Formats: sequence, C-alpha cells, structure tokens
Amino acid sequence: MKKFVITSGIFLILSSFLIGCEENIKATEDMKKSMVEKQEKKIPETLKLIKKDENTEQNEEVEQEETVVDSDGLTVVNNPSSLQVVVNKQRKLPDGYTPNDLVIPDVPFPFDPNDPKRQLREEAARALEDLFEASKQVGLDLHAVSGYRSYERQKQIYEHNVATRGQEETDKFSARPGTSEHQTGLAMDVSTAAEAFALEQTFKQTPEGQWVANNAHEYGFIIRYPEGKSAITGYSYEPWHLRYVGKNIASAIHEAELTLEEYFGLVP
Ligand SMILES: [Zn+2]
Repeated sequence: MKKFVITSGIFLILSSFLIGCEENIKATEDMKKSMVEKQEKKIPETLKLIKKDENTEQNEEVEQEETVVDSDGLTVVNNPSSLQVVVNKQRKLPDGYTPNDLVIPDVPFPFDPNDPKRQLREEAARALEDLFEASKQVGLDLHAVSGYRSYERQKQIYEHNVATRGQEETDKFSARPGTSEHQTGLAMDVSTAAEAFALEQTFKQTPEGQWVANNAHEYGFIIRYPEGKSAITGYSYEPWHLRYVGKNIASAIHEAELTLEEYFGLVP
C-alpha cells in the first residue's frame, strides 16, 4: 500500500549554520564561505508530497508527524526509538530519552576503551561492523570516533559552551540538549589515522572518506549533513557523520542525493 504524507514546512530560515559534532572540529574559512553561499539558496517548496518507502527494514510504520511543541518552540518527536527518527534543530527528542539497546560495535576506536561514546543501538552497531569489515577488505583504515552521546553529556557540553562563549555564539556550533542526532544512538562519526582521527572536512579527500561517501548506503548509513544542504539540515558539510536509517532508505536517499529532511518532507 502506498502511503503519502503531506507535510507543511516551517517558515524558518536559519541565520547561522551550526556544527553537529562540536566536540572535535573547527570551522574553517572555507566552511564559513560555503555557509554564506548556501544561505542565499532558495528554501524548497513548503508543501511536499513524499512517497514513503514501502519496505523499511522492519516493515514498521514510519510516521514523522508531530504536534507537540515544547517551551522553546521545538517539535518533540513522537517516534524517538524509530530507526528513521528525524532529529534536527527544529525537532528534539523527548527530555531524557535514552535508547534501550545500546551496544559497543566491534570496530576500531582510537581513544579510551571505556568511553560511552563508543556505543550505538544494536542494529546500527551490527551494520557498522559490516561497513567496517568491507572497508578493511579493500585496504582502508577507518576508525569510529564518536557515537552515542547522552542527554546529560550534551547538556554539559552545551552549558559549558554557554558559560565560556555566550549563548549566541554557542548556538552557532553546539547542539541544544535533545537536538543532537548522537543522542539517538544511530549516528557515528568516523575518521582515519591520516586525519589524526580528527573530524574535518578534509576527510572527504581521503580514500576512506571517498569510500564512505560512495558505499555507506549499502550498509544502511547516509552522510547525514551533505555538502550544499546546510539550508535544509541546519549543519555544514560533515563527511564524517554517518547516520543509520536502514538499507532501503539509505539507498534511496543516496541515489536521489537527498537529505533525511527532504526524504520525509520535513524541510524547514
Ligand atoms: Zn556527528
């Protein structure tokens, strides 16, 4: 059965573009320039008709319509544990949400073996293991850097940034608690030794970065914040940030060069 969702857009043009993985990266002048260019791009039509994927990985209903709006004016998602949940600057997880199936994927990490940010939800973790194994087979050196981040951890980071840099500046690069995709347990930042395991846009030029861009969808992951889509995602290009959505949707998004927001008709 084909299903359609009509979603009206939100008239909100972000005045700044923020960075989702603020723990490890720095904005370069090039990024700032491209952000300005993207601001000038037109926001897509506010009424979207999007065909839903008929065969999601779990055959679950993928509903992305919510009516709850919290005191910050953000939509609170009603499907936080869906593998297709859309979390962004307008759509937050319910306060204190914690996934109940976090595990540590068996992939190389460069840092502290006990760090909770090694975790991912189980299905995403198994898929990441397959992705890493395939990259190893072709001689690549991928490392996982940062996965699950708790509400509490994001709150600490955000409040520290507000205390040291002020609210306005902080909101340009640090996600508010509840709005980081890392809290879903479905996102993993990856890098390589040649990048000193940093999260930089130069990752795109490495063999690992290119392989991930071309192949991650086959394992159910998308490049969540693609180049040239800041006006839609709210984040500058992050070639290192992989988001698990399942193979069918990841392939559809990859082939059509869409964002998760566009795929689900949730363009702000
Ligand atoms: Zn990230």
